[in-house]
Amino acid sequence: MSEEQRAERKPCLKCLLQEIDPEAYERDIQRLLKAMKPGEKVRDEEYERRLSLCKACERLSNATCSACGCYVEIRAAGVRNHCPYKHW
Ligand code: SF4
Repeated sequence: MSEEQRAERKPCLKCLLQEIDPEAYERDIQRLLKAMKPGEKVRDEEYERRLSLCKACERLSNATCSACGCYVEIRAAGVRNHCPYKHW
């Protein structure tokens, strides 16, 4: 599949994890992070701190927070976001 064809693919909200291309998932995460304005994002140190807390959390499941349903790598980047269980 060409890069152009991949870019034209729309995300399917009903895909099973086993159907998701891990490289496409990573690209989508990076694309969404880059689309955030500088004032909307936390500093790198805070982002890494939040992710390390998520990684140690029992509610993290397949990159998703089972408490809020968010992809933690996106949620943790937002300056106005918080952990629903106040871990960060
Ligand atoms: S956002 Fe909070 S509850 Fe969700 S995985 Fe991260 S630390 Fe756990």
